[in-house]
Amino acid sequence: MKTLKIIGKRFKIVTDAKMEDHGQCDSAKHVITLQGGMTKALLLDTLIHEITHAVDYEMNLDMTERQVHGVGSGLAAVFFDNPKFIDYLYTIIKGE
Ligand SMILES: [Zn+2]
Repeated sequence: MKTLKIIGKRFKIVTDAKMEDHGQCDSAKHVITLQGGMTKALLLDTLIHEITHAVDYEMNLDMTERQVHGVGSGLAAVFFDNPKFIDYLYTIIKGE
């Protein structure tokens, strides 16, 4: 995906093979940057982590890094352990 709409804001999703961190969320510029070459599990964890940062910013939650990490990793684990859950969510969203 090249963009994600998060709480009404269109975030650009870019990959940077040279970045040192796994991910970064620039909430002001609406850009989520992901490190290139991560494993599937780490990519999922990092993407949901950075989305959580964006939600934190847009909803003015003032979450700590520890809280973002816990929510991000927890949700990523649920998605990773239940691949059919995504299909189920899709049917709910599409009203099927
Ligand atoms: Zn973080």
